[in-house]
Amino acid sequence: MLNCQAPEAIKELILSARVLDGNKIRDEIKLELAAQIEELRRAGITPGLAAVLTGDNPASHIYVRNKVKMCAALGLHSEKIELPSETTTEQLLKVVEDLNRRDEIDGILVQLPLPPQVDAKRVLMAVDPAKDVDGFHPVNIGNLVSGRPGLVPCTPAGIIEILKRSEVPMKGARATVIGRSDIVGKPVAMLLLHQHATVTIAHSRTRDLPAVAREADILVAAIGKAALVTRDFIKPGATVIDVGINRVTTAEEVRQIFRDPAAPLAELAAKGSVLVGDVQPEDVKEIAGAYTPVPGGVGPLTIAMLMANTVRAARERRAVTSDK
Ligand code: NDP
Repeated sequence: MLNCQAPEAIKELILSARVLDGNKIRDEIKLELAAQIEELRRAGITPGLAAVLTGDNPASHIYVRNKVKMCAALGLHSEKIELPSETTTEQLLKVVEDLNRRDEIDGILVQLPLPPQVDAKRVLMAVDPAKDVDGFHPVNIGNLVSGRPGLVPCTPAGIIEILKRSEVPMKGARATVIGRSDIVGKPVAMLLLHQHATVTIAHSRTRDLPAVAREADILVAAIGKAALVTRDFIKPGATVIDVGINRVTTAEEVRQIFRDPAAPLAELAAKGSVLVGDVQPEDVKEIAGAYTPVPGGVGPLTIAMLMANTVRAARERRAVTSDK
């Protein structure tokens, strides 16, 4: 009733969920890291990250460029190792082994996806677990599952940072993670469990997905399908974390997704694509209590946590050698 009569500005206030601003949280983490990096620098240590980029996937090039840029901004040493698309498993293993041996390299990042001829699991297994800043090595996965200290995958770690720093209660909360990938879905479910949430993992074979999602106080969408999560998935007042990065390239799709397509259509005309998360962006504002936008939500945290893992790896690896 109140809503029908309220002026537009008040309606907006009543209806709009809290935005969990990933850029702001990223900047807070950067400041904290800068202090740690300065402390290491005084001890004569510059943390180093090596990014191995294989092939010519344009998105991978952008991701690696952004990672290298953030290293430079924080005063970390970084190296980009570019390899052609026809690189073999053996050649990649040799590159990784060389990086494992170099003391000034604290973090090794093998950018995925790898070309189809490469045995990605073998390559990821070859990374020294102490330098595995992506947290994909089975040793680090084992540490994560058993709650031991270790390097944690960046996007899931970033999601927990957003929830903690935004004071979203996790203890005792019902959490649903849609998506069960090794990179996002499974590790974020494990981290939520360690925070004492009651966790459900849903996926493409889940029966009545909207009803499962609607039980959640914290809903994490890590699916890779533009705007799949609509209003009927969201419990009123829930916190919704949208991990998805989907590029929509046709006006027809834009019109299907957005009730008010004017702004996204203009963006499509200007840029050739519109970035859309896994969550319908208008519904989430109206139904959720808080949500991460796309862009500007989870994405910025992924790179920040990569930097945090590199600094952590440097501290842990070099504390011993620097005292010698
Ligand atoms: P994957 O493709 O590896 O996994 C997707 C998961 O979603 C699978 O478990 C799949 O289920 C599930 N799924 C697919 N379709 C449906 C459906 N219709 N209903 C329910 N579940 C479904 O993707 P990732 O985990 O690597 O990435 C997910 C998204 O997050 C992508 O958009 C990716 O670009 C983005 N991403 C964003 C990052 C960031 O920094 N913001 C970092 C990493 C990823 P099943 O297992 O049954 O096939």
